[in-house]
Amino acid sequence: MATTRTLFVTALAALTLTACSNTEPDTPTAAHYPASQPDSGPAGGEIDDRMNLEYTDLPALARLDPVLLMALHSAAADARSSGVDVYVTSGWRSAGYQQRLFDEAVTRYGSTDEAGRWVQTPNNSKHVTGRAVDVGPTDAADWMIQHGNDYGLCQTYANEMWHFEMATTPGGTCPGPLDDPSDERAVG
Ligand SMILES: [Zn+2]
Repeated sequence: MATTRTLFVTALAALTLTACSNTEPDTPTAAHYPASQPDSGPAGGEIDDRMNLEYTDLPALARLDPVLLMALHSAAADARSSGVDVYVTSGWRSAGYQQRLFDEAVTRYGSTDEAGRWVQTPNNSKHVTGRAVDVGPTDAADWMIQHGNDYGLCQTYANEMWHFEMATTPGGTCPGPLDDPSDERAVG
């Protein structure tokens, strides 16, 4: 189906792949992660960048935990059959990229404590270990909140409707989300 959206995503992925070919494979480029990506702050509800799950060569997808990636593919296929397209807006991130995000958040929010409510440090981020994924657009995140547990995928932070981790067995019950990423520090 050659919709405008499909063409846009195809073009975006082509550009992203081109950008990657000249850089270290583990160094995500700005093309992967625009400043407006969700984890960069509360204004990030808008989603500009969408990675189609078919583009498996992208490090942001290829370096996700295989179990999470498989669950995501299953969920996205079922969402699609319900008329909901699921895109990945952020997947695996290098530690360097996560540090830049954190530093930017400190600048934006004025303190490391406040920044920590929105962005994890590289040592704590599940994105750096490939065990977290952000999805969009909003209807996809809504679908995932309702059905993600069928695949083991759970919303883990109440203030990030787009962020999912494997947090239960498929068909199990998701634990209640933490208020925000800084909660995790309390439990190590
Ligand atoms: Zn996230």
